[in-house]
Amino acid sequence: MRDATRLINSGHDAGLPGRATRTVQPPLQRGSTVLFETYEDLVQAGEGHYDGITYGTDRLPSQRLFEEAMRDLENGSLTRAFQSGISAIAHTLLAFTRSGDHVLLCDNVYGPTALYCREILSRFGIESTAIPPNAGADIAEHVRPDTRMIFLESPGSNTFEIQDIRAITKLARSRGIRTVLDNTWATPLYLDPFALGVDLSIQSVTKYISGHSDVLLGTVTAQADCARELEDYYRISELFAAPEDCHLALRGLRTLPVRLRQHEQSALRLARWLAGHDQVDQVLHPALPSHPEHDLWKRDFRGSSGLFAFTLKREPEEERLAAFMNSLECFGMGFSWGGFKSLANIAHIQRSLPSRYADRTLVRLSIGLEDPEDLQEDLEHGLTCLSR
Ligand SMILES: *Cc1c(COP(=O)(O)O)cnc(C)c1O
Repeated sequence: MRDATRLINSGHDAGLPGRATRTVQPPLQRGSTVLFETYEDLVQAGEGHYDGITYGTDRLPSQRLFEEAMRDLENGSLTRAFQSGISAIAHTLLAFTRSGDHVLLCDNVYGPTALYCREILSRFGIESTAIPPNAGADIAEHVRPDTRMIFLESPGSNTFEIQDIRAITKLARSRGIRTVLDNTWATPLYLDPFALGVDLSIQSVTKYISGHSDVLLGTVTAQADCARELEDYYRISELFAAPEDCHLALRGLRTLPVRLRQHEQSALRLARWLAGHDQVDQVLHPALPSHPEHDLWKRDFRGSSGLFAFTLKREPEEERLAAFMNSLECFGMGFSWGGFKSLANIAHIQRSLPSRYADRTLVRLSIGLEDPEDLQEDLEHGLTCLSR
């Protein structure tokens, strides 16, 4: 063989001597073309009868292993991975609605979810309207004859209102309406969507599941009734998720329980401390008894994660807010959350319905895995800069 041919045919694992190597974590496998052993296999693949993976868009092993681990964790029927959380959300909205359908959207939903409904779904004749962020049995007032889907996020990731998911899914079931839950805050460890009657459970894997702020990925998990529709939509659209990201997300999943426990403990400690601080008005954290839907949290959730917010007794001027944010040393400034590093952000919310937080400055904290003592000192110093 000549050089160019040798370079193409060498370096394959079949060329290694001795036994096959099995590492603890499955290897990352990326690719477009999958090679078949025989012509007969190739023909079968072309006809759709081959029992192996046929192509890169046919979900390579790195993707399938991650999806199976998520499906198992969620106790669902089928999981599919998407290139980001918002991609998982957008495709769920498209896959399960038709022209002429109506979608109800809880008003505290992730901003880009509402934007997608308003700007993209509306083009296909799918109307969406808002329901209160703490909706429950009152959902009946909002449901119309053409309502096909109710999209929930509980708690919402800026203002942390909680919906009565059981009451909503009960009514939805009786009317043949699909319910979707963006369960990114609690993860399947702290809230079990299918036990509450939800049809489709969404995770922004970008947050706690990958956990290291180096992956963008989302998942949709379906219960049995919706599995086929999701599977067909995904296959026909030839969607897939990047193998590296799935590989990293699977690695993240291994340590999710211990990380989440630490996020929970540190966040609770800081939330309680902030609740007693004389500059702080309200701490928006579902596990605090002062939270308006704390009873629902106690009923449905098994824990709380590391993301919460607080308001200030005196609405700060922009310049003081800047002094606070710029003084922070442990907390980074940036979008997203759920990683090992603590982050601070300022939220001014935009809602369709009136909200008690409409004109308030919300300081949102994602509590990472640092020593909480350092985080508290950082915030304490920051708050003195705020009041100066
Ligand atoms: C971040 C986030 C998303 C979107 O996830 P990406 O992977 O960043 O697209 C969706 N829902 C919630 C609640 C989020 O916080």
